[in-house]
Formats: sequence, structure tokens, C-alpha cells
Amino acid sequence: MIDTLDQYVVFGNPIQHSKSPRIHSLFAQQTAQALYYDKLLAPLDAFTAEVLAFRAAGGKGCNVTVPFKQEAWSLATKRSAYAQRAGAVNTLMFQADGSIFGDNTDGVGIVRDITLSQHQSLLGKRILILGAGGAVRGVLQPLLEHHPAEIVIANRTVSTALELAQDFTDLGQVSGCSFEALEGAFDMIINGTSASLQGELPPLPKTCITADTFCYDMMYGAKPTVFMQWALEQGATQVVDGLGMLVEQAAEAFYLWRSVRPETPVVLQQLRTELMT
Ligand code: NDP
Repeated sequence: MIDTLDQYVVFGNPIQHSKSPRIHSLFAQQTAQALYYDKLLAPLDAFTAEVLAFRAAGGKGCNVTVPFKQEAWSLATKRSAYAQRAGAVNTLMFQADGSIFGDNTDGVGIVRDITLSQHQSLLGKRILILGAGGAVRGVLQPLLEHHPAEIVIANRTVSTALELAQDFTDLGQVSGCSFEALEGAFDMIINGTSASLQGELPPLPKTCITADTFCYDMMYGAKPTVFMQWALEQGATQVVDGLGMLVEQAAEAFYLWRSVRPETPVVLQQLRTELMT
């Protein structure tokens, strides 16, 4: 039965905790698409070989997660404008002419979650982004397209923040700095570091947050992350995690592959319930 369905996978290392197979199977059920989506652990030195073997076996496309998004960018023979700019690809589509199309749907994912699900406008906002890794690189252009007043990127390794900001200054007001150098309060703080994974919090000055600051952690879990707990302790009332971003970036990939847009709120609700139980 499965052999007759169009095949998709997510590649990563590690990959065992990925929720992508569950999300895409809920999308497929909802939209009556005949597809099967699995997860595959790619060895650190064999990502490209694994992707090409999957395509040779009939695979239609794949998602790509840590640490292979840059390699996926190199493997793509055509790229969306977002992927081209980000230097990272999280979605590959194998095309009939033998080309491999690469997209980066992380940015669309976070923007849709913040604007549509959380009802937050980005227009004219002063936004602080923590971290300067692959995820932040992927979300900068879509965020800047919504015309915030300013984006400040703060990172542990300051040089990475400065370089990243420099790559996007033609699209808006973007600057980089250390956590310690942050000045003034922000309308929005997005945590794009992986510090929450280690239960750590970047050393943020308390002056950067007010009760009105919208706080978003790209990470998610059954319990609020360390960053979310800190934001709540500072009195912030709007504090959310990145489960919605995960579902929205998946929906964008699904749309690319299948030309059908799934309804995301019901899938997010289902996933949230499963996460809590
Ligand atoms: P990267 O490894 O590319 O970047 C990690 C970033 O976190 C770097 O800026 C790094 O700083 C910083 N960092 C790591 N540890 C610490 C620490 N202890 N204190 C302060 N800063 C730290 O990871 P990604 O960009 O791919 O992912 C970042 C986060 O975003 C992850 O938690 C990931 O799960 C999440 N994510 C969520 C998605 C979703 O759909 N919800 C999609 C993609 C990512 P430095 O440069 O100094 O090393």
C-alpha cells in the first residue's frame, strides 16, 4: 500500500524526535493527498548521498533539518528567493527534468504564526532577535518584508551577528551586537538561539522587555522554555513557543509539493494536545 503512495521524508541528525512525519500525515489526511512521509537519519558525512539515493528510489521531495540545511542549499540546482538569500534550505523538491528545487519555509512559517495565529503586526515594530544561526538567517527576509522599524540581532558570538546583519542591511534597518550591549525596550523579542535546548538563557538586560513586549521562542515543548519563563517573570503577558512556526513551515513545504494548502489551526491544536499528554 505504502509503495503506491508518493514518498517524502525529513533528513536530520539527530532525527528521532522529529514531529514532521506526524504533521504531514495529518495534512495528508485532511487534504486527501496520497502520500507517505517518514524520517531518515542521515550520517553526518553522507547527507547528499542519502538524498540522491532517496530520489533514485522514487522519492518526491524532502525536508531537511539540523545540521544539513547548508548542504541542502548546495545540493539544490534551483532555489527560491528566500532560500537563495538565507543560504539555507529546509525543503527540497525533485523535479521531472532532473533538477532539485530548494526552498526555505522557516521564515514564512514564523511570519504566518506571528501575524495570523498570534495577530501581531510587525509594521513599525522594534524587534530583537536572539541568535544568529541557520534559523535566524532563514527568517530575516520574510520578517523585514513586513517593514519593522528595526531588527537588532544579538548573539553570543558577536562577529556572527554583525556579519548576518550586514547581509540584510539592503532590506531594512538591521544591526548586530552582543547581549550585553542591548539598549532600550523592544516591542518583540524572538529567541532563535538553541540555548533553550540546554536549559540556558542568554544574559539579557531587564531593560529590553516590558509588559507589552511580545515574546516568541522558536523552540517548543510540553512546558514553557527557560526564555518563556524569564519573559513571564518580567511581566510579559504575550509569550508563545515555536510549535506554530513548525506547523506553518511544514504547511508551506506541503503546499510547494502538493499545490494544496492545509488548514493549520486544527493540526496545531492536535499537536499541542499530543505534546501535553
Ligand atoms: P544553529 O546551531 O544554527 O544556531 C544556534 C544559535 O544559538 C547560535 O546563534 C548560537 O550562538 C546560539 N546559542 C547556542 N547555545 C547558546 C547559549 N547557551 N547561549 C546563547 N546562545 C546560544 O541552530 P538553528 O539556528 O538551526 O536553531 C536555533 C533554534 O531554533 C533551535 O532551538 C531550533 O530548535 C529552533 N528552530 C525552530 C524551528 C521551528 O519550526 N519552530 C525551525 C528551525 C529552528 P553562537 O553563534 O555563539 O554559537
